[in-house]
Amino acid sequence: TTTPVKVAVTGAAGQIGYSLLFRLASGALLGPDTPIQLRLLEITPALKTLEGVVMELDDCAFPTLAGVEIGDDPNVIFDGVNHALLVGARPRGPGMERGDLLEANGGIFAPQGKALNAHAASDVRVTITGNPANTNALIAMSNAPDIPTERFSALTRLDHNRAISQLAAKLGVPVTEIKKMTIWGNHSATQYPDLFHAEVGGRNAAEAVGDQDWLANTFIPTVAKRGAAIIEARGSSSAASAASATIDHARTWIDGTAEGDWTSMSVLSDGSYGVPEGLISSFPVTVSDGQWSIVQGLEIDDFSRAKIDASTAELAEEREAVKGLGLI
Ligand code: NDP
Repeated sequence: TTTPVKVAVTGAAGQIGYSLLFRLASGALLGPDTPIQLRLLEITPALKTLEGVVMELDDCAFPTLAGVEIGDDPNVIFDGVNHALLVGARPRGPGMERGDLLEANGGIFAPQGKALNAHAASDVRVTITGNPANTNALIAMSNAPDIPTERFSALTRLDHNRAISQLAAKLGVPVTEIKKMTIWGNHSATQYPDLFHAEVGGRNAAEAVGDQDWLANTFIPTVAKRGAAIIEARGSSSAASAASATIDHARTWIDGTAEGDWTSMSVLSDGSYGVPEGLISSFPVTVSDGQWSIVQGLEIDDFSRAKIDASTAELAEEREAVKGLGLI
């Protein structure tokens, strides 16, 4: 028998968790032949709800689900984990300032970073979905000095998938025709979905669109504000697509990107493309043998430069704020 791969999910009783856990358990991350053990973290008041979710997981009788542990102590739940999907975060409440938000999330992601540092498996990969995801990732990473920094990444795959979907709809082509989409910067309203390096059926996407006004004034804001549009339509947030993107992100990190394509991941900047070193920012990345690398050598025109700079300036401000709070 194969040893199960241990996958931790935080905020497991939440909306994203409710979509994520069943797909993880059914093999969407690791395939049909790899048993998975789920290790689910929640805050104490949510444990009862989580017990109910575990009853449903049991009732699915998933052949790939080798076990489920639940609890409220990251030091226990993160024991031996190979993949940590950090979904639980403190949402912005009414009247909450960004500083308060960052401080509340520091109280979550600093101890979780320490617990991963002390207890996770030596090959652990950490994906941060909970917002503000990029800065939460920076906090977790900074509190886990023994885990290589490249094992931390934040989710911009949902933005990436949204950008592919919008472009495919605009051009009337299947999503499979679209390659080399890039989200740059922060997972926030300042993110920059880039069509100048994307390809449609092998052709440059910006040229295929041939409409700078649509690109600048429809495409970019539609992708950046898609979460709000879904809340408006559905009455609750885009939890299922966020869960799906979390799986896509973690699976690409394992399986790699296809030849002739790349993905978007928020990873530690080495200064590439003028993104200040030390920020966790979204880049075009290829993945091979479980290691990501930032795609090099792309030409950045003035339009893209200004968009990337605006988003990374926001990330730099968030970093200053969490530094000021002593969280990193
Ligand atoms: P969700 O499961 O809907 O969302 C969880 C986090 O994911 C939020 O930070 C949310 O950000 C973020 N997110 C990222 N992308 C998306 C997207 N496209 N759509 C929606 N959310 C997105 O939140 P719930 O409130 O339902 O559940 C959160 C759970 O986390 C609760 O059960 C809570 O108890 C738990 N929690 C657990 C902690 C722990 O395990 N220690 C710590 C803190 C909370 P945004 O706020 O911007 O929507």
